[in-house]
Parts: sequence; structure tokens; C-alpha cells
Amino acid sequence: MHVVETIAELRRVIQAGRQLTPTRPWGLVPTMGALHAGHVSLMEQARAEGCRVAVTIFVNPTQFGPNEDLARYPRPRDQDLEHCAAAGAEVVFYPAVAEVYPPGFATYVEVQGLSSVLEGAIRPGHFRGVATVVTKLLLAAGAEHAYFGEKDYQQLTVIRRLVHDLHLPTEIIGCPTIREPDGLAMSSRNAYLSPSERADALCLSRGLAAAARAFAAGERHPEILAGLVRREIEQTAGARLDYAVAVHPETLVELAEPAEQQVLLVAARLGSTRLIDNRVLGRA
Ligand code: AMP
Repeated sequence: MHVVETIAELRRVIQAGRQLTPTRPWGLVPTMGALHAGHVSLMEQARAEGCRVAVTIFVNPTQFGPNEDLARYPRPRDQDLEHCAAAGAEVVFYPAVAEVYPPGFATYVEVQGLSSVLEGAIRPGHFRGVATVVTKLLLAAGAEHAYFGEKDYQQLTVIRRLVHDLHLPTEIIGCPTIREPDGLAMSSRNAYLSPSERADALCLSRGLAAAARAFAAGERHPEILAGLVRREIEQTAGARLDYAVAVHPETLVELAEPAEQQVLLVAARLGSTRLIDNRVLGRA
């Protein structure tokens, strides 16, 4: 496995792979590190689909707000590289901030509309940072496929939009959310939770599961379904609800009428840690 720190080296390794087996595609897996089974599942899916796997590990400063956890975000380099090697990655791009944002950097990508609702309303500038770094990584790697988790549903929607709008030649593949055995969606930020916050954090997946059961039993009203999620959070003393809404799967517009396909999106705070989760209902 090659560990490279510059875009030039990344391109060289990817090009060398192409020369070796021209028909075999590259699958890019962008991450911020602190890798867990959710990240590994993206690498495994890329491999299962016949790709050579390129992982990027970069804690992207432009997607963090001034009062967010950029400084304390975990960076377990050796452990992350072990995960990548075990999952069969052929290259890991592990750049310094100055490689991605050299002095004088001035170009940003902004996906309007989708970026200003929900997570974007609470974290202004977050999706501008995400869209910018993902565009740069997709262009730097030039992979045929790129794998992203449905865990970050709004992020996936923003990325699909920018790839479409900018005619980027990479196919975006959404992958299912990997959960702990008790239902908590895996996240690098789960490491911040105290034992009691970890127990309270289950209210997100519990609320989504209650709504999914109601949907399976025939309930289609978005307000009732979102209300089931909201109630679980509100009944948990240690949790503070940011939002729980039912939205259209592509536009993320909040639904007002019963629908056969909806996505429930939830965000809540456990102490100083914000967690998000979601559930796609009536998947086509
Ligand atoms: P992050 O390191 O948090 O930026 O995440 C990197 C990629 O892993 C993103 O595409 C995430 O959506 C994805 N991811 C994070 N957590 C999970 C999970 N529990 N299951 C599946 N994919 C995930």
C-alpha cells in the first residue's frame, strides 16, 4: 500500500494502476480518518465492485465552523493506515493542509439550496467546505467511482448535485449506514460520548426505528413519522433535539403531504457532541 502526501504522487500511483490493468476502475473513498467499520465498509464495497481502492484521509478545515471540533478531531494515523491496509486499499492520500489549500487558495464550490437547509442551517459554510474539498479530491484522483456513506445523507445529496452540475466524470455510489449492534450509527464522533451520553445517544436510532415500523404498518404522513422520532429525543433527558424532519429524498424539501418515499433526518446533541442519523423509507 502506498501512502502519499502530494497530489502529484497520488496521480502517479493511480496512473500506474491504470497502466497495469487498464480495464480495472479506481474507487475513491474520501474520509477524515478515525476510521471505523463504516469507513471500512465503503472500501469493501469498492473492492467488491472490482475497484482498486484509493482512500483519502484529510481533516478538512474548511468544513468546520469556528466553534467546532477541528482541533480535537481524532487523528490516529497508524491505526487508520492499518485499517486501510487490512481492507485492501492500494493507496492512501494523507496530505497536509498546505497541500490541499496552498497559500493564495481562493476557489470554493458552493451547491446552492441543498447547502443552506438542515445541517447547513445549523453549520453555516459546512457544505461549502465539503463541496470544495470533495471536488478537489475527485479532480485530483480522477477515479471512475467514489464511495460515500448514506449516514451523511445531506452530504451525499450535495455531492451528487455538484458532480452532476460540474460534469465531473466520477460515478458517486451511496453505501448503507453501518451501525453498532445496539443500533447507534457508527461515527468518529461517538468517541466523544461519555458512558451516559452513549446510552442516551440510542434515542436517535430508536426514534427512526419506531418511525420505520409505523411506515411498514402503513403510516405515510410525514409529520406523524417525524413526530415519532422527535418524541424519542424529547423523552431522553440527556438529549437536545436540533431537528427531526421527513424530506423528499432528492430535494430535501420538507414533506407536507403523505408520500411513498421519504427520508427521515435527525440531529441531536448529547452534551457537547452533535450526532446525526437518518432512515430512508419506501426506497424505490
Ligand atoms: P467522515 O470520515 O466522517 O468524513 O466519513 C467519511 C465517509 O464515511 C463519508 O462518506 C461518510 O458518510 C462515511 N461514513 C461515516 N460513518 C458511516 C457509517 N456508520 N456507515 C457508512 N458510512 C459511513
